[in-house]
Order: sequence, then C-alpha cells, then structure tokens
Amino acid sequence: MDVYVEKEKCTGCQHCKDVCPVAVFEMHHRDSQDANKDTAPPEHQWKGQTDPAVAQKWKDVQDGHRHFAPDNDGTSGGISVAVNGSACILCQACLIECEGECIVIKDDSGNEYRSIYK
Ligand code: SF4
Ligand code: SF4
Repeated sequence: MDVYVEKEKCTGCQHCKDVCPVAVFEMHHRDSQDANKDTAPPEHQWKGQTDPAVAQKWKDVQDGHRHFAPDNDGTSGGISVAVNGSACILCQACLIECEGECIVIKDDSGNEYRSIYK
C-alpha cells in the first residue's frame, strides 16, 4: 500500500493521525524538511502555498483545530506526512475524516482511494 498527502490541501486538523490504527501519519512543522517525507508526487509536495479553495473553506472555522498553524501542538497544526504508508490496512477511517480531502491511497493492484470528507 502507498499513502500520501496532497500537501497544498492539508489543513493540519490532525484527524488522520488521530484515527489511523497503524500510525501511518505524523504531523510536522510546515517549514520542516520532513514536510515532504512521503510519496506525494512533485505537484503535491509542500511548497509553502495552501490551495486557495481549501484556505477559504477552513480559515475561519472554529472547531478546536488550529487550521494552517505552522507548528503542531499535539492536537492540531503543522502538516500531515504519511511516513508509514506500507502499514496501511485500508480501513478508510482517514479518508472519511480528512478535512482537506487530500489523502491518496494506492493498493498493490494500482487501485486508488481518495478522501471522501463531507
Ligand atoms: S486507510 Fe490506511 S492510512 Fe487511513 S486510517 Fe486506515 S490504515 Fe491508516
Ligand atoms: S486529515 Fe487531511 S487535512 Fe487533516 S491533517 Fe490529515 S491530511 Fe491534513
């Protein structure tokens, strides 16, 4: 299994890390070199710019998450990095919870699964 985050759409909500039963995700500082330590293709690596539509949707939402905060305080903030994608068991919990609709999972047959947050 391969898992990556389309970084420009990640709000930093930390839902993925909180729900994943096999610790696929880590939250990293947005300015850290580690922000791109997963298999996201070049067009979805973090380059310091959030997708405008995602920013507009979440910037003022007060739900206890520190959306787009540079750092992680243990509850939210920073950016999600799928550091352990090979451990994924395709439970799909993260796909349901991802605010930014930015998690992509590919199984060993090449089938692709994407975030379905509503
Ligand atoms: S689908 Fe995979 S990455 Fe997502 S929560 Fe489940 S095990 Fe973790
Ligand atoms: S659930 Fe989605 S938007 Fe939230 S931190 Fe994880 S990848 Fe980013």
